Amino acid sequence: MSSNNRRVFFMQAAAASAVLVAGRQAMAQGAPMVSEQDPQAQALGYSADSAKVDAKKFPKHAASQTCATCQLFTGKAGDASGPCGIFPGKAVSAKGWCSAWVKKAG
Ligand code: SF4
Repeated sequence: MSSNNRRVFFMQAAAASAVLVAGRQAMAQGAPMVSEQDPQAQALGYSADSAKVDAKKFPKHAASQTCATCQLFTGKAGDASGPCGIFPGKAVSAKGWCSAWVKKAG
């Protein structure tokens, strides 16, 4: 590979990774929020506000349980919303909750 070809190769590789990173950021920022009316959300008792969860329906729910403290939440600490493994392509509220809540490890 001539040094010119090598330079072109690295420029293409850099451009390709920049596109990938930009795409990932757009997906994270642009993901629509999960609606509480969504059939899957209803099945799991998802609430965008953990404080509003029906204690009679979900006696095991505790106020300290939120999406931000859930193992399935992959948003960054401090973000108002982020992706959840249960709802691919959508974002959940960091202060939300659903009955699939699992304590974040660590
Ligand atoms: S699985 Fe966890 S992060 Fe996802 S909606 Fe339920 S409580 Fe929130």
